[in-house]
Amino acid sequence: MDCLFCKIAAGEIPSSKVYEDEFVYAFLDIDPQAPFHCIIIPKEHISGADMINESNSTLIAKVFEAVAKIAKQENLCKGFRVVNNCGEDGGQTVGHIHFHLLARRNLAWPPG
Ligand code: 5GP
Ligand code: ZN
Repeated sequence: MDCLFCKIAAGEIPSSKVYEDEFVYAFLDIDPQAPFHCIIIPKEHISGADMINESNSTLIAKVFEAVAKIAKQENLCKGFRVVNNCGEDGGQTVGHIHFHLLARRNLAWPPG
């Protein structure tokens, strides 16, 4: 499958690794929107949040376990935001489910 984030998870395209385990890979976003901005993905391809189901949702739980681990690892003690963009109106540009972890600045709400 010709998927950018599958290739990044497999190490076929270089990235700045933040965290990795059996199920999850996290790397710095190439176009950061905050002083700390990483992308967290399940290694297994899921195209988007609209494709989460009872047979793959444990991978999403693993992503959120990684969120807490990365927050500790990176000492994000003032807080952070996790964002998932899904589909065209959601602003998703890469068709492999991913979660943005943004931190180290005050993040506006609502996001607009
Ligand atoms: P989306 O807009 O789909 O929610 O987020 C995709 C994100 O992937 C964007 O923030 C974009 O900067 C990031 N991105 C796209 N291509 C690459 C790449 O080749 N390497 C890295 N590290 N990030 C990428
Ligand atoms: Zn993929």
